[in-house]
Amino acid sequence: MNFHIITIFPNVFDSYLGDSIMKRAISEEKISVQFYNPRTVTKNKHNKVDDIPYGGGPGMVMMAEPIIELWETITKKTLLEKVPFTKKRRFKTIVLSPGGVGFDTQYAKTIVQKYTDIIIICGRYEGIDSRVIQITQAELVSIGNYVLTGGELAAMVIIDSMSRQIDGVLGNSNSREEDRISSHEMYTRPAELIHKGKKYHVPKVLMEGNHKLIDEWRKNH
Ligand code: SAM
Repeated sequence: MNFHIITIFPNVFDSYLGDSIMKRAISEEKISVQFYNPRTVTKNKHNKVDDIPYGGGPGMVMMAEPIIELWETITKKTLLEKVPFTKKRRFKTIVLSPGGVGFDTQYAKTIVQKYTDIIIICGRYEGIDSRVIQITQAELVSIGNYVLTGGELAAMVIIDSMSRQIDGVLGNSNSREEDRISSHEMYTRPAELIHKGKKYHVPKVLMEGNHKLIDEWRKNH
């Protein structure tokens, strides 16, 4: 899976993608993540990527042209590129917005199965000129019912969540807890933990090795 991220703040991704499972997924070429900064293709003197909104109101709006130019570069360039993914390229464009369709595991699974390349456009300020959505036929996607200052965190959530749906990214597909019986309540050693004189025990069922009963317990906890 190839992720193409259009953002004016590409550096904020470095730390998360440079560690742990994401780092390994990239180095093993299970995923690729490339960045495209609208500032690099602006035609104006100060590399401005935003302007005042038509109709007035506070805040600035991200201009359409630099984003569209990058989107066209990605879709054209990537089609010609020789990358280690053999499938025919299929693109999906997502514009991040708190007003978009709700992102969840099912959405992540569907996109991973259907597409080879995901273009994620990160908004800033008041958002993005709506003609970007019309021209790229993007889907507006929200990661939750709250407003972030920018789309970068949302893009990171989507990259992480989609990546774990790709075989081999977690090492062992059995690690994908969304595909097996799992519980949000879990324990590890010691079996008895003493905190401020009080004893906290691991539920007995988890220590008795009866997997049928353990599955039952996990369904209910
Ligand atoms: N007024 C804009 C709107 O309603 O779409 C929100 C602007 S918000 C301050 C700046 C950017 O952060 C958005 O353009 C979007 O890319 C991103 N963003 C904020 N909250 C988000 C959320 N819950 N899910 C996805 N992206 C979000």
